[in-house]
Amino acid sequence: MLEKARRKLIWWNIGIVVPLIAALILGMYFSISSSIENEISNELATNANNVLQATSFRPTATSNQLIPPTQPVKSSDNRSEEKDDHQQGQEREEGKLELTHSSDIDLLDSTYFLIDRQSNVVANSLQSAVQGLPNLTQLNKIWNGQSYFQEVRLQNGLEMRLYTVPVRIENGQIVGAVQVGKNLSGHKEQLQSVLTTTGIVAIIGLALAIAGAFVLTSRALIPVRQSIERQREFVADASHELRTPLTLIKANAEVALRNPQKTVKENSQYLEDIRTETDYLTRLVSDLLTLARADMGKAELKTEPLELVGLARGVIHDIQPLAEAKNLELKFISPGDSSSELWISADRMRMRQLLVILLDNAIKYTHTGQVSLAIESGRGQIAIIKVSDTGVGISQEQQARIFERFYRADKARSHSEGSYGLGLSIARWIVQAPDGSIQVSSQPGKGSTFSVSLKKLVLAASVNA
Ligand code: ADP
Repeated sequence: MLEKARRKLIWWNIGIVVPLIAALILGMYFSISSSIENEISNELATNANNVLQATSFRPTATSNQLIPPTQPVKSSDNRSEEKDDHQQGQEREEGKLELTHSSDIDLLDSTYFLIDRQSNVVANSLQSAVQGLPNLTQLNKIWNGQSYFQEVRLQNGLEMRLYTVPVRIENGQIVGAVQVGKNLSGHKEQLQSVLTTTGIVAIIGLALAIAGAFVLTSRALIPVRQSIERQREFVADASHELRTPLTLIKANAEVALRNPQKTVKENSQYLEDIRTETDYLTRLVSDLLTLARADMGKAELKTEPLELVGLARGVIHDIQPLAEAKNLELKFISPGDSSSELWISADRMRMRQLLVILLDNAIKYTHTGQVSLAIESGRGQIAIIKVSDTGVGISQEQQARIFERFYRADKARSHSEGSYGLGLSIARWIVQAPDGSIQVSSQPGKGSTFSVSLKKLVLAASVNA
């Protein structure tokens, strides 16, 4: 099931990340290529302007008067369509188009042609003629007042971008055209290298995304896997713990039933055992329920201001018979004089349960000596509960595991002592819920001390005092 979920997650990850990367790379490529295109167009427009500024028109009537062209070239002018006024009825002024100061033309690595009204090339930046240049195929757009870009492939295989603009004189008459051209091979190479680079980046990105999807998904599922594993162990251990008392109940009932002639009194040992096991089962099921609810976040803690010293005194009183039954001394050590108080914010019932678990364990695992419960006021508004005993102690290795569910150092003896290894798991949950902590220090053969730290409650009255 988990494997199926893992595969699904991987596909989801890939399905989201891969198109994102692809869109990013494509976006990058198109934005770079369009900025290269723009750069070429702007360069061509600047060049066309430079040529226009070096151009003059010499009317035939006043052959020694030079008229400079008037209209500045717009960089993206190929859509502007402004009719030649003289096509609309006015008389055309005849004359000669000239490049008067060609040395002033500042060209950025490009070619230019000056073309007169009769489509003759009157100026050419190229030293020798190049087949296919200038390209006059769309020249009538110029006579309609329209500038235009075009891309051509010359016979020698060279690719060029051309920009053609009309030459106007003051009265609006179009007297010729300027065509500037730029070899595209450098830019094509640039674009090719952009394509190659983005392609490589895309492949690396996709490979990383796919590998990342595998790694991240596997990582994300580690806690889920662990939780399922824990849950499985919990169910297996719980079933195991339930089976022993159930088997004993069944066996006792069967023995009693096999002797129907015996009185209840004569069968009382079996009935007593059934009751003991039923008690054990009831406690076990209740603890299982507590932990299951805690896991689901449904075990509510009804926190309230709680006076810890008084509560501890009460628990000591209740548990005294257990200690006496084992001839153990049970001591209570309060933080100050008999009237001292220590307030915490906790669930009364759970806090009592915590003290009972720790004291019950201390008594259970101590054969001679004493068990003590101390309430101390620690530094930094901390209340400390210490349960110490002079019992069997816990080895270092066991200390690392005693808070695990169903862990018992001595599994063989535990059922007869009514323990099933859930006490400390519940204790830890009770302590951790209000942000506290529980620790153990122990020396095998000498005894153990369980220390619980909880936040003290600062009461308004004590603040004022
Ligand atoms: P249980 O006491 O029901 O077995 P707990 O979760 O309370 O379960 O304790 C787990 C294990 O920790 C016990 O089985 C025991 O081995 C060890 N342990 C707990 N408290 C003490 C103690 N005071 N002295 C020695 N061992 C202890």
